[in-house]
Amino acid sequence: MRDYYEILGVERGCDDSALKSAFRKQAMQHHPDRNAGCEEAAGRFKEINEAYSVLSDPQKRAAYDRFGHAGVNGQGGFGGNGQFHDVGDIFNEVFGDVFGDMFGGRGQRQRGGPARGNDLRYDLEISLEQAYAGAEVEITVPVTMTCEPCEGSGAKPGTSPTQCSTCHGAGRVRASQGFFSIERACPRCGGSGRMVLDPCVECRGAGQIRKTRTLAVRIPSGVDDGARIRLAGEGDAGMRGGPRGDLYIFISVTPHELFERDGLDLLCTVPVPMCVAALGGEIEAPCLMGGADCDGACKIEVTVPEGAQTGKTVRVKGRGMPSLRGPQRGDLVVELFVETPTRLTARQKELMRELADLCSEQQHPKAAGFTGKAKKFWDNVTGQA
Ligand SMILES: [Zn+2]
Ligand SMILES: [Zn+2]
Repeated sequence: MRDYYEILGVERGCDDSALKSAFRKQAMQHHPDRNAGCEEAAGRFKEINEAYSVLSDPQKRAAYDRFGHAGVNGQGGFGGNGQFHDVGDIFNEVFGDVFGDMFGGRGQRQRGGPARGNDLRYDLEISLEQAYAGAEVEITVPVTMTCEPCEGSGAKPGTSPTQCSTCHGAGRVRASQGFFSIERACPRCGGSGRMVLDPCVECRGAGQIRKTRTLAVRIPSGVDDGARIRLAGEGDAGMRGGPRGDLYIFISVTPHELFERDGLDLLCTVPVPMCVAALGGEIEAPCLMGGADCDGACKIEVTVPEGAQTGKTVRVKGRGMPSLRGPQRGDLVVELFVETPTRLTARQKELMRELADLCSEQQHPKAAGFTGKAKKFWDNVTGQA
């Protein structure tokens, strides 16, 4: 499978508008209507659509950037079977009026009938603590609402809209667009087929008003970076009695100072003094589980085994992230970092020297193994010269 960025001819880090215009250009060029019967063009067209449908979706794009095709295959509707259901939607979004009708543009462009309101996106950043425990967060969202005094008609209460004289109520007019002759929304009435002669004062004839709404969003415990929460019916108001759109909350979790999340596990690197690492002992590690489990202090004792090295991990069961799907929990994975003491006093240095004299090679198996390999390497080098 070819690289999606290569298919569209864009740079990896390109922004949405560059992506969109590249897609527009490519799709125009390889559109089946312009290349009747050409299988290569049809294949290219399919490829272009697939690439764009992934890269234009921030979540899928992030997955693709990290894992390549494996990251986006087999996710709802994007199977490896080359099916994609979003072609119509993508075309409506990118080409709007020009192509919308060709793909049977749903709902939004029906003549004068009810139309569903827009879906909205809200980006919400939360802390790892909030993701761990779950939270209720208040957000304010600008949203269009149906105007109450005129009940969405746009006409002054007591009056009603009249038929549009340009399209005679049809909501469409025929027009030529380059190589296409297509029907498009009537520019005078905006496709509604109706005109308001005496507009409602509240909404100035629009039938809708913009409002800022405050909503309480419940963040479920265990939510991960990149998750999406759908609030049905909290998007923009529909037109002419159509249903409201949905609101999608895109969650991003702020990187934490101490923890890194890996699936359900939480990773934390803890420095261990050299002597504790050598002798073994207890160290304190942070954990996110507060409450009765650790006297609300969010810390936990971790046993360092005798002779622990940097990079050694100690797993504390059940102290990781909770799962969204059930009662299971990840682990806290403590990675040890052995720290050599600095600024030693004369007495400490003396003890250290004494210790060094008493240490044997067998007590540093890594160093011994390394010395062996290095010696072989040097022998080889001098042998060849
Ligand atoms: Zn009209
Ligand atoms: Zn109104």
